[in-house]
Amino acid sequence: MLSKVVSTPPRCDTVAAGPITMRILVVEDEPRLLHNLAKALREEGYAVDTAENGEDGLFKAETYNYDAVVLDIMLPQLDGWGMLERLRKHKKTPVLMLTARDAHTDRVRGLDSGADDYLVKPFDLGELLARVRALIRRAAGQSRSNLQIGDVAIDTRNRTVTLAGQPVTLTAREYAILEYLALHRGEVVTRTDLYEHLFDESDDTLSNLLDVHIFSIRKKLGADLITTRRGQGYCIES
Ligand code: CA
Repeated sequence: MLSKVVSTPPRCDTVAAGPITMRILVVEDEPRLLHNLAKALREEGYAVDTAENGEDGLFKAETYNYDAVVLDIMLPQLDGWGMLERLRKHKKTPVLMLTARDAHTDRVRGLDSGADDYLVKPFDLGELLARVRALIRRAAGQSRSNLQIGDVAIDTRNRTVTLAGQPVTLTAREYAILEYLALHRGEVVTRTDLYEHLFDESDDTLSNLLDVHIFSIRKKLGADLITTRRGQGYCIES
């Protein structure tokens, strides 16, 4: 049982901290815990989808490309083990398992089944958030929280950006797009990818706005930072 929702750490007010960044799925059948987890993750800036049973969770995890899944083990219909096993046949989405017991066998089984990390209930919410951040960075091949692209430095922990050492104010969406492209540096990221990762299922934002955000990022951080690959998507060169 989660004891309390920790408050969001203070943020530098010269730089926008966004309500939207990566997209996460939380699968948990206990309503209060699910609510608290989703709330805390949203406050941290993630787009969050939820599922209350393993079947629904599996459907969503197979349908969308989440940046991470927080998965409870004891679930109705299909439990966390079953869901993970089936998901791993198709996808490598980072999964953080929530186990109710600190049983050694549970941990071993979790890691054997392809879980990337696990947390024993009751857990500290701050720790969960830190592990989710670490999972996402690891999955993107980044072990550090600072990303440097030429003169542009991105601090993914504090969600701040500097250009040649000077703070630059980005909107939430601009930051989210920049961080995602930076984490996938050297790869072409399609528009569909960006939408899937940056907007959750309750978001109906019009797709053509993406160009407006990219235009604005270039204006603030330099025209050469993000390359447009016509008909393919966007790319930050490695
Ligand atoms: Ca449960």
